[in-house]
Amino acid sequence: MRPPAHAPAVTLTFDNGPDPDATPGVLDVLRRRGLRATFFVVGQHLADPARRALAQRAHAEGHWIGNHTFSHGGPLGDRQDRGHAVAEIGRTQDLIGELAHPDRLFRPVGGGGRLGRHLLSLEARDYLAAGGHTVVLWSAVPGDWRDPDGWPDHALEQCLAQPRPVLVLHDIAGGAMRHLDAVLGRMADAGIAFRQDFPAAGTPMRGGVAGAGLADIVTADGAGSLDPARPRPAA
Ligand SMILES: [Zn+2]
Repeated sequence: MRPPAHAPAVTLTFDNGPDPDATPGVLDVLRRRGLRATFFVVGQHLADPARRALAQRAHAEGHWIGNHTFSHGGPLGDRQDRGHAVAEIGRTQDLIGELAHPDRLFRPVGGGGRLGRHLLSLEARDYLAAGGHTVVLWSAVPGDWRDPDGWPDHALEQCLAQPRPVLVLHDIAGGAMRHLDAVLGRMADAGIAFRQDFPAAGTPMRGGVAGAGLADIVTADGAGSLDPARPRPAA
């Protein structure tokens, strides 16, 4: 297959792990291909020493470790109970500990991969800002978790349709990642390049600083003092 004139550069991300059945194989494939990715881990998994060891292995092999909430119980913007977002983000960051990327990467739970104002509550937004976090979104969601054998074609199609895709896959049980090596091979054959960093368009908060698009992922009444389009309140 002939590479497109402006071949995309894709950033690979793996969410919801680490998982003893899925993560080792993903790490093996990435190592063999010399690729580096980010693993957005679920905090409660890290309490299990075997799973924590997988996060340590990923970190040691040059992958970045990000925070994907403690319980993965649903989008934070759907929960207005005080303290919920703080617990979900803060406990996980503590568990990640020294494995954390310096930019304190956080990926909101989408609830089926959807982007929108359900992603963050006001509390979550303010806590992430105060903690100097970088919020990482996504732009290619091939649905590996619901279609373990059908996702590869969607991944190719979605990544070829944009210049700078951030691809979301999942290192979880279910077997979808048995196709990972073949998919990465097809991407390379199609001229797609791989990068570890994140495009500005997919990071509406960097180091705690609000950027373009942040208001689009905060609960509807959340256009407050951190919205760059609005003046800060006087006091
Ligand atoms: Zn997730």
